[in-house]
Amino acid sequence: MRMILFGPPGAGKGTQAKRLEELFGVPQLSTGDMLRSAIKAESKLGKEAATFMDVGQLVPDELVVGLIAERLLASDCSNGFLLDGFPRTIAQANALERMLVDRGLEIDHVVSIEVPDDNIVARLEARRSCPECCAVFHLKYVPPNVANTCDKCGHEGLEQRTDDQEIKIRSRLVAFHEQTSPLKDFYRRKSLLRDIDGTQAPEKVFKAVQESLSKR
Ligand code: AMP
Repeated sequence: MRMILFGPPGAGKGTQAKRLEELFGVPQLSTGDMLRSAIKAESKLGKEAATFMDVGQLVPDELVVGLIAERLLASDCSNGFLLDGFPRTIAQANALERMLVDRGLEIDHVVSIEVPDDNIVARLEARRSCPECCAVFHLKYVPPNVANTCDKCGHEGLEQRTDDQEIKIRSRLVAFHEQTSPLKDFYRRKSLLRDIDGTQAPEKVFKAVQESLSKR
């Protein structure tokens, strides 16, 4: 199972990836999470990435491609992986293809979670995440059991991502439409793309994703 979860920021890619990770036993590879860890660790890469992330722009291709190339070599990826937030440009998709072809592998599924822009802003402004384990909550739809406390690891103090403020969300949507959307045609031409209505409840989206996987 080598799969790409595609969609705008806030479409629910991470939420679905966590469920699919459990179902298939393959890891979720989120470039956003990797970059946030690099920022937290104050690494050179993290400092460079932060200058782009802070303003809602994409991080340069070579930085994220390097991260993914290294991550794909880890033993837990030997049976597959779920890419969440990568690739985000045609250059990244080509780089991914080269990495896989070199190892005789290919992507099996690309699932596009479709959510209109108007819904995205409202969703992301109410998103909170755990700085310790990256678990994600939504104040209205997926609130934590105990206010401000992570259900998964018990950490107290859920945070709003600094890029989940309206002005930055709008920039991220511009980046999505200009640089990432063309990937839909890229994968449609390879007959890999499946569209899912991401405005439904997370469990319904999950069911639709599973159904789409069984159709190939
Ligand atoms: P995400 O957590 O996927 O919403 O990503 C948060 C931010 O990290 C994005 O707005 C980008 O600045 C950066 N980022 C994550 N993945 C990529 C990628 N594949 N290419 C470029 N920038 C990325």
